[in-house]
Amino acid sequence: MTHPDTALADVMNRSRCLLFDFDGPICGIFAGLPAPSIAADLCELVAGRGVDIPREVTTSGDPFDVLRYAATFSPDLTQAVADELRALELRAVEVASATPHARQVIEAAHQAGRAIAAVSNNSREAVTRYLTTAGLAPMFTRIIGRTDPDPDLLKPSPHLITRAVKELGADSAECVLIGDSLSDIEGARNAGVFNVGYANKPGKLERFTTAGADAVITSMGELLPHLAERQAASD
Ligand SMILES: [Mg+2]
Repeated sequence: MTHPDTALADVMNRSRCLLFDFDGPICGIFAGLPAPSIAADLCELVAGRGVDIPREVTTSGDPFDVLRYAATFSPDLTQAVADELRALELRAVEVASATPHARQVIEAAHQAGRAIAAVSNNSREAVTRYLTTAGLAPMFTRIIGRTDPDPDLLKPSPHLITRAVKELGADSAECVLIGDSLSDIEGARNAGVFNVGYANKPGKLERFTTAGADAVITSMGELLPHLAERQAASD
């Protein structure tokens, strides 16, 4: 088994392009406007249209569970929930909390000449607003977020990741996705890019390791030593 530090160094050295999941690695989007309250608002919208919602959806506290449930009904309902979710995400980013070391990592990567993209299941408008307000947007070559209401296009689908790779003019083998969910690790694998799991909560390190993450970090700061100029690739 490769030593964890060696694995991270190797992945970062091979990756000219850094793809950052948004919620987690860059900020906690729902820190000020909690996800369960957004999920409750979305459930209210769905119920208001006369659709019964199963208990596992009303109690999950995850807005994306409500979106996925709406998508089992009709395109109209899916669009309505996606629109409302986008509106709430736009409010949430105003009171989101910055992830420790995220700014340093992005600045160091930019200075080192790496291409940087955000690849998020959150709406593109919300991600763009956060990055713009934080002054980080100019360092991003691309901002890829949810633009289509269809939840099947979100990670773990490779759809958004593959789009980022294409728009960066890159090859998947020179990209890494840094994300804090199993869906990021699966999505990266589905898209053929490297992945680094950011284990920002108890239990994630074990889950990501079991899922076969290429590398796992517990602080975004762990990326900093690996962002200087890349060494000549040794295959
Ligand atoms: Mg995330």
